[in-house]
Amino acid sequence: MKILTVPNPILRQKAKVVSKIDGRVTALITAMVKKIDETKGPKGIGLAAPQVGELLRIILAREIKERGKEGELFVLVNPKIKKTSKKTELGIEGCLSVPGLYGFIERPYSIKIEALSEKNRKVKRSMSGLFARIIQHEVDHLDGVLFTDKVKGKLYTAEQLEKLKTQKAFRK
Ligand code: ZN
Repeated sequence: MKILTVPNPILRQKAKVVSKIDGRVTALITAMVKKIDETKGPKGIGLAAPQVGELLRIILAREIKERGKEGELFVLVNPKIKKTSKKTELGIEGCLSVPGLYGFIERPYSIKIEALSEKNRKVKRSMSGLFARIIQHEVDHLDGVLFTDKVKGKLYTAEQLEKLKTQKAFRK
């Protein structure tokens, strides 16, 4: 399994709804989890199926708790953002499919989502801050949208970003 990078046209296509969580889908999820766990420099905290060449609505997102502590890895099938807060936040994003570049993006601070778990259970959850940002970034991938489409201002290299240091770095 390889992570596709720009300008691969698959990254610009709309992913299909998963109609059934069958053996093939389960195998794909297992492979995606393995892939994100072995992704280093920077470490992956989110991955969408189109990034590995599968046009299905499946995302992985690592929960980020207080002080940036990493929590559980969420598998969300057919995720839908049901509500977004009026309050927005400007934060730094990067993407495994856009290696080495980062930018500032304004997004709703908190969201409410509905999805299915990998075990076909309904998931309803609210999240805020970085975790909400990761999910919004990954859901964008399912619609062929990349963070570079939404960036405010310029794109920075990792080195330039280091120099900024005014905001918490966000890697994905
Ligand atoms: Zn991404």
